[in-house]
Amino acid sequence: MSDRALRRATPIFPWSLTLPLVVQKYGGSSVADAAALRRVAHRVAETARAGNDVVVTVSAMGDTTDDLIELATSVSAAPDAREMDILLTAGERIAMALLAMAIGSEGVPAQAFTGPQAGVITTEHHGRARIIDVAPGRLQKAIAQGKVAIVAGFQGLHPESQDVTTLGRGGSDTTAVALAAALGADVCEIYTDVDGVFTADPRIVPAARKLARITYDEMMDLAASGAKVLMPRCVEYARRYNVPIHVRSSFSGLEGTWVVGDTVEGETMEEPIIAGVAHDRSEAKVTVIGLPDVPGTAARLFESVARADINIDMIVQNVSATETGLTDISFTLPATRLDDAISAIQSDADGIGYQELRTDVSIGKISLVGAGMRSNSGVSALFFGAMRDAGVNIEMISTSDIRISVITRADKVDDAVRAVHTAFELDSLEGEAVVYGGSGR
Ligand code: ADP
Ligand code: ASP
Ligand code: MG
Repeated sequence: MSDRALRRATPIFPWSLTLPLVVQKYGGSSVADAAALRRVAHRVAETARAGNDVVVTVSAMGDTTDDLIELATSVSAAPDAREMDILLTAGERIAMALLAMAIGSEGVPAQAFTGPQAGVITTEHHGRARIIDVAPGRLQKAIAQGKVAIVAGFQGLHPESQDVTTLGRGGSDTTAVALAAALGADVCEIYTDVDGVFTADPRIVPAARKLARITYDEMMDLAASGAKVLMPRCVEYARRYNVPIHVRSSFSGLEGTWVVGDTVEGETMEEPIIAGVAHDRSEAKVTVIGLPDVPGTAARLFESVARADINIDMIVQNVSATETGLTDISFTLPATRLDDAISAIQSDADGIGYQELRTDVSIGKISLVGAGMRSNSGVSALFFGAMRDAGVNIEMISTSDIRISVITRADKVDDAVRAVHTAFELDSLEGEAVVYGGSGR
């Protein structure tokens, strides 16, 4: 029996109940091959040896998930969603088993669990299921026996059907936070291929700066605007359960970025005006042309899309032409749901009463996020001035109290992000941000 197991099993040692509990998540680029797995195993073992209880969740190795999706679409034009989940969950199972073995050879006992075995309960939506509960009994038992518990990220169980589900791309982040919340962990560490959350994607803006801390609200908006370093739902979850997240690199030992609430010990923290610039090329635009400009048209249109369970992002309605009484509505949505949206609208074509449907997948979105926008004037003027100077045409605009987002052509996104980053004086003077690995896919 290991030292830690002995302490846990022996109640006369009162501190055995109070070991700090750390949940660590390692993304795909951190476990891309055998050498990377051994490096991660060493880090996990060191964390355990330092006197922590450790639960680890892991993504599929490297680009495995993308490769599996490609394989699926090469055998079927429209792979069945249930079978797709069975396929994709295999990626994380491979990584979790190998990591448990590698940690074992560091002399630290470890046990791997699939999402269902770890008690991750989800809704039934294959490919985009939400975690509704975590029943971590088996993990707690493993911890009590002095073992490191390794959990396959990105997957869970729909209890009624007993089918395995996946949580959507980047879902291991959400697994990590959900486990941290359920286990009452002291911290949730998200290990990735950059040193933390930066003022922009370091792959596009090498002058991006690492943030020491960012609030849940700002991180929520950055993540929802495409900064894929964290999945939006994971930030939502962390905010709800007040789980502190530490985003850091598995390749360097550096302190990363803390994602936390905006009050620390009762004091409201001072916010910089701008937290960062995010971009997103994963959306598509639908334009519904020739809609009757009468009450209820928009409701009917969006009810059809809602029935297909599709989240809409931006919406713009044109001024109607007085001579025809017809108007157009454009909206954006995840490109992966475009076909479903078109079928949904077409299935109620008569009820909605439009003339034509157009789609556009060559769009990109640029968003500026910062809590200081609430109290600073001139932010919009500077933002749109930067777009003009970069020669970027704006097709749609939306704002919240802490965000401005615009839609442009996809091939203009990189220039626009860099222009905005420079205009808001976010460029670092201390050298380039490091990207340690990953293909950026
Ligand atoms: P993992 O496989 O570890 O989950 P991801 O590829 O999902 O990694 O997320 C890390 C990547 O997020 C980085 O390599 C970077 O290109 C991208 N990224 C986008 N925006 C940001 C940002 N603001 N700060 C840091 N990384 C960002
Ligand atoms: N492997 C999944 C993906 O590539 C989940 C994750 O990495 O978080 O999206
Ligand atoms: Mg990720």
